[in-house]
Amino acid sequence: MDARTAKQQPTSNAAIASLICGIFSLVPGLNLLAILPAFICGVVAKRTITRSDGTLSGRGLANAGMIMGVLGVLMWLGIGLAIVAVPALLKERALNRTLTCKENLNYVTMAVIAADMQHFTVTKTTDLVPQFLPKELRCPVNNASYIIDPGSSEPARCPNYNAKTHRATLNPAAHKGDQ
Ligand SMILES: [Zn+2]
Repeated sequence: MDARTAKQQPTSNAAIASLICGIFSLVPGLNLLAILPAFICGVVAKRTITRSDGTLSGRGLANAGMIMGVLGVLMWLGIGLAIVAVPALLKERALNRTLTCKENLNYVTMAVIAADMQHFTVTKTTDLVPQFLPKELRCPVNNASYIIDPGSSEPARCPNYNAKTHRATLNPAAHKGDQ
């Protein structure tokens, strides 16, 4: 067999099919249907080419199809991971903000009580700085100022606590002590 006959080798149909399925493996919406055929055609193509004893070509196409199939699988794993991880991270962040808000309210409440006992007129959190609070504290959800009401059962309140936004992002159980 010389170089001329080698050039005329027909390409394995399975190798072409593997390449096409490999390309579709990377197309969202089609990839779930194409990944497995890309592998199967690739395996079949390689086996056929090996058995053809040099009469068929297309090993490179089959390899390309299978590699794209692997990339398609990795893409889906990435999407799956994002679907699982993103809500968990958002929940974690919301919980952290709830805890920070609760901690802030404890400091502000203590500061308001201390100021009230010393007959300081306090109507907003900035009135507490710096004598009773080192710096102004705000709700971490939207940076809202706390409501100050000295002498009431709730000397400091989070304005977001009963609002829709706060309820959606914060865990109400963690705010229980504030009410
Ligand atoms: Zn808050």
